[in-house]
Formats: sequence, structure tokens, C-alpha cells
Amino acid sequence: MNNKTLMENLRCIQDFPKEGIIFRDVTTLFRNPDCLRIMVDELYDIYKDHGITKIVGIESRGFVLASALAMKLGAGVVLCRKPGKLPGETVQESYEKEYGTDTIEISKDAISTDDVVLLHDDLLATGGTMHAAFNLVEKFRPKKIYVNFIIEINDRGLDGRSTFPAGTEISTLIRV
Ligand code: 5GP
Repeated sequence: MNNKTLMENLRCIQDFPKEGIIFRDVTTLFRNPDCLRIMVDELYDIYKDHGITKIVGIESRGFVLASALAMKLGAGVVLCRKPGKLPGETVQESYEKEYGTDTIEISKDAISTDDVVLLHDDLLATGGTMHAAFNLVEKFRPKKIYVNFIIEINDRGLDGRSTFPAGTEISTLIRV
């Protein structure tokens, strides 16, 4: 069930970035100490026994809880970024967006075959971004990949979950 405090503090902005879209602004949850604690505690409860060694945060709203949760789980943080931001060699994945293609990348030595990875982003809409991140992390051949979002959107007629391979373990804290 959706946490009442999180729902009450999530700012929804009508018609952003375009008409007909209700934008969920998770920054109002990040800046509220109670909400921040609730989110980290809920995530900790879900993943504390999963042996997570790396949390991959997706640029940029995914970095916030990736860091806070990693501290609590005793895991490391890996940044998944847009091209040209990471120094050194990277592994990349390109994917189709509504208009044109986009690319994301991770440092080449950031994940090993011994790692158990949690992929984290703020929001699941079509699933395109996370699906690309999932494919990217798979290239490193970690032991296991889990997927988490703060918010799962269903009210835009989307079913982002269906874009992942059957059996992928996906958790979300809020469904709208
Ligand atoms: P998808 O790739 O699943 O269609 O879109 C998810 C990506 O777009 C995420 O990285 C997310 O940050 C961003 N996004 C799309 N819609 C929203 C929204 O309503 N609120 C927020 N915070 N991010 C969104």
C-alpha cells in the first residue's frame, strides 16, 4: 500500500513537460526529512537480506536514494550517466526515446561478476530508461540484478513493467 506521508508530500505538476502529462516531482520527497527517512527505511527492509554489493543510480534523481541506501546496506554506489560525463573508459547502451535515441554509460571497471546489483531510478513510466540500464548492467555479467523505483506510473496508460524479462524482480514504493 502507498505510504500516506509520501503521497501527501509528492508534488504533482499538471501539463509538464507537455500538455496532458502529470509530472511527479520527487524532489519534494527528497527535501522532506520524514519522507527521506521513510523511503530509505522501506528500501532497506526490502533489500537488507539480498546481498546487494552495488547500487546503480540513474542520472540524476536516481543518485539520491542510491547513495543513502548504499550507506545503510554497506554497498557501493555506481553512477549511470549520460555520455561524456564519466572519465575513463565506459560501457554504453543506446535506446529509442519518443524523439530520437539516447545513450547511457557506466565506467568499464565499476561492476564485477561477483556483484549483486540493485538498479535504482526515481520513476518508471514507459520503462525505456531502466530497460536500457538493465541491458547495460547485464553486459558486466553480475550475479544478479534487482530493479527499484520510487514511483511506478500507471495512469498514463503505461505498463513499464512489461518491458523487462519475465522473472525480473522489480519493487516500487508508490504506485499512481
Ligand atoms: P521512462 O524511460 O520509464 O519512460 O521514463 C522514466 C525516466 O523519465 C526516469 O529517468 C524519470 O526520471 C523520467 N520521468 C518521466 N516522467 C517523470 C515524472 O513524472 N516525474 C519524474 N520525477 N521523472 C519522470
